[in-house]
Amino acid sequence: MEGLQAKGIHPGLAVIIVGDDPASRVYVNNKKKACAEIGIYSEEHALPAETTEGELLSLIRTLNTRKEISGILCQLPLPKHICEETVLLAIDPKKDVDAFHPVNVGKIMIGDYDFLPCTPAGVMELIRESGIDPAGKECVVVGRSNIVGKPQAMLLLHAHGTVTICHSRTQNLAEVTRRADILVAAVGRANFITADMVKEGAVVIDVGMNRNAEGKLCGDVDFEGVKDKCAAITPVPGGVGPMTIAMLMKNTVRAAQL
Ligand code: NDP
Repeated sequence: MEGLQAKGIHPGLAVIIVGDDPASRVYVNNKKKACAEIGIYSEEHALPAETTEGELLSLIRTLNTRKEISGILCQLPLPKHICEETVLLAIDPKKDVDAFHPVNVGKIMIGDYDFLPCTPAGVMELIRESGIDPAGKECVVVGRSNIVGKPQAMLLLHAHGTVTICHSRTQNLAEVTRRADILVAAVGRANFITADMVKEGAVVIDVGMNRNAEGKLCGDVDFEGVKDKCAAITPVPGGVGPMTIAMLMKNTVRAAQL
């Protein structure tokens, strides 16, 4: 950070939260904490659940113009009466540190991007830092959401993996996942990926963040059942989650550089 500041680069992140969803509150607090830890200026805009779409858009327009704010993040989900698409479109693509704006989504598709969405980028960083090269490998992503599954598949493709995307209509799912050298689970169901769905020696990345019957945070993978079968596996908590925050910090610095 000191090096950046010496170059006149002062990253600043504005985090918007609308309503009082407890999970969103935890995520926003973690993001603010990470900013404080590494010396990024951050400000929180906590708006009541009854905030109108117009009021939210007006705040975003103001943040778009403020020089000390390099990144803007609007925590999802938003209350039902606010259109998420309209809100994401209002964020200046150069401040879109979540990389959800269609301009940034398109750039990722082409492979010429300023920002990568934080969770898939964090997964790629984990893979790279573990010395694993997806090139030529069978990569299977379970989940096709716009924020995780689809961009994850695209990033694995950019890394020259042979990529398959699975979803709720996939037939013979276990047959497909058993082909995976690299298996990414982004489903949102506790213990969904069981040992019989995993190839011996596979790399298993668990994006899921779920609560089990006891209310404990857990992923999509049956960690205990799978861990002895695979070459590498990420735990939940303590795996992809912290990487998502680290990538948000990276994007905020990148936004300041831009
Ligand atoms: P979504 O609910 O948007 O997407 C879930 C995907 O799983 C969908 O594509 C759905 O298919 C697919 N799916 C559901 N049931 C099945 C099934 N039986 N077989 C195969 N596929 C199925 O979730 P997100 O992508 O937003 O999030 C996924 C998980 O990752 C959640 O647990 C979320 O909390 C977590 N998450 C974690 C983050 C982190 O930082 N660690 C960040 C973001 C999310 P279809 O499209 O057909 O409905």
